[in-house]
Amino acid sequence: MNMLKSFSDPRLCRSLLDKIHEELHDELRFMEVCGSHTVSIFRSGLHSLLPKNIIHLSGPGCPVCVTHESEVGMYLDLAAREDVIVATFGDLMRVPGPEGRNLKTAQAEGSRIKVVYSPFDALELARQNPDAKVVFLGIGFETTAPVVAATIHMAEQQGLKNFFVLSFHKLVPPALNALMSDPEIKVNALIIPGHVAVVVGTHPYDFLPQKFQLPAVVTGFDPLDILQSLLELVRQHNEGRAAVVNHYTRAVQENGNPRAVEFMEKVFEPTDALWRGIGLLPMSGLKIAPAYEAFDAKKVLGLELHEEKPIPGCRCGEVLKGKLAPNKCPLFGKVCTPASPVGPCMVSTEGSCAAYFKYNTEL
Ligand code: SF4
Repeated sequence: MNMLKSFSDPRLCRSLLDKIHEELHDELRFMEVCGSHTVSIFRSGLHSLLPKNIIHLSGPGCPVCVTHESEVGMYLDLAAREDVIVATFGDLMRVPGPEGRNLKTAQAEGSRIKVVYSPFDALELARQNPDAKVVFLGIGFETTAPVVAATIHMAEQQGLKNFFVLSFHKLVPPALNALMSDPEIKVNALIIPGHVAVVVGTHPYDFLPQKFQLPAVVTGFDPLDILQSLLELVRQHNEGRAAVVNHYTRAVQENGNPRAVEFMEKVFEPTDALWRGIGLLPMSGLKIAPAYEAFDAKKVLGLELHEEKPIPGCRCGEVLKGKLAPNKCPLFGKVCTPASPVGPCMVSTEGSCAAYFKYNTEL
């Protein structure tokens, strides 16, 4: 058996599942911070095999879902400019902004919007279109920010004058700190996204046990990763312990990737950021540092945030805070479906509402 296949080996999974059933006596409310974990749990069928007293709560770890409607408003303003080509990841295209408009609508109306697979593609677009201002829409967490930072650095080295980034990158640990401080959010333990920890390491999560006495496991996305992590959380809960444990050692070093962090800190600096349905969270975003402001679309093109206008009826904010199961939203599966999404949690493949809809779960 090759190494990767062994992370979904049914025999090993069964043995871990048996242990979880045997050892869990209380109700355990755990937050799967990242939408990719939600999808893995459903896709692998684990949700139907886990004990019923394990309560799954969604978290804020889907970058598209937390992109604020005011930020989408700014994207649309940008797209409306005749001298601008917007370069974006495809999953932002259908994210609703003010009046339900999105980039797809703007594209249909004639705006120049190109879907790219990497910020480096946007750089190439800038080279090919010297008469246009090419603006890359920077969203995502600590996973994507270093690559965008490297792209800005490269644009500077190559002397490109028509490449810009609109940075709405967000940071996971400050958001978790804010959410865990909310007394209405009842969580016993957390599963931490492995891909963010690949960059930042495990220490940025030390506040979870130290400040909130919450157990946390950094883990990967295969069934065995998730089951091992749940067993760890069950054991810490039973023993009244709280620690951050790394169960993704094949990818995550305790200190993360210092080179990637160095790039991120050189090009960006922390700033307060708006999270969809959650609000303004202190120091939870990244803006372009003064040394690179020639590439900052917000500054150079004079863009302003739109007034906040939440989507009527959409309860994504409560879903992202783990306060509401997606299928308890009154619009779920009726007016809001992946084919006709009302809110961003139904747009993204990592969105909890889309995962619940796709896997038809009763959780
Ligand atoms: Fe928003 Fe749709 Fe999810 Fe309801 S089901 S919270 S409307 S995305």
